[in-house]
Amino acid sequence: MSLKVGITGGIGSGKTTVCHIFEMLGIPVFYADDEAKKLMISDEILVEEIKTEFGAPSYFEDGSLNRKYISDIVFKNTNQLNKLNSFVHPAVFRAMESWSSQQKSPYVLKEAALLFESYSYQQNKFNILVSCPLELRIMRVMNRDQISKEKVLEIIQNQFSEEKKKTMADFFIQNNEEELIINQVLDLHKKLLILSNES
Ligand code: ATP
Repeated sequence: MSLKVGITGGIGSGKTTVCHIFEMLGIPVFYADDEAKKLMISDEILVEEIKTEFGAPSYFEDGSLNRKYISDIVFKNTNQLNKLNSFVHPAVFRAMESWSSQQKSPYVLKEAALLFESYSYQQNKFNILVSCPLELRIMRVMNRDQISKEKVLEIIQNQFSEEKKKTMADFFIQNNEEELIINQVLDLHKKLLILSNES
């Protein structure tokens, strides 16, 4: 069984970019946020839970998710958001378990934006935090997603602070313009190979 390692970081910190380097080293990555979106259409238990809780309009006739309908509900109501998360997180956990049991590498990565916020980090042996200076993150996300600075800041405000996340992580990657991420990934990869051998 591969060792499970979580990887996270605030919006625009570069966690997906870092994961792509791990993938080049042969480490499989489970992209939990992308997977969650797929499961909301394909996981029968999850689909049923969503329909029961939020009603038939949650899905279109062709089976695709009515994202606008669902996001309008959960955006206005934290209880409903918590409810949705309480359905989605176990489905992602089930998918991650089944996926990781099929992997042959010494360790696997689970990338999730809200790894600490959702407490799913507790399911991993180790967790990596990718950090990047705030101004650089804002600039990169504005460029990537063509959204305003205010919108990026709004998303950042809904995530745990860097200080809090630092106390919860085991390993750190600095994605600033001074230290090359490739070297940091190589160093961490060597450490994780040793740790996975020991466990
Ligand atoms: P999100 O939480 O929104 O998914 P993320 O943490 O996965 O973001 P990425 O998508 O990896 O972040 O990076 C954000 C943007 O910054 C991307 O356009 C990416 O190409 C760019 N970027 C990331 N790291 C670097 C870097 N070291 N040098 C230049 N550009 C970078």
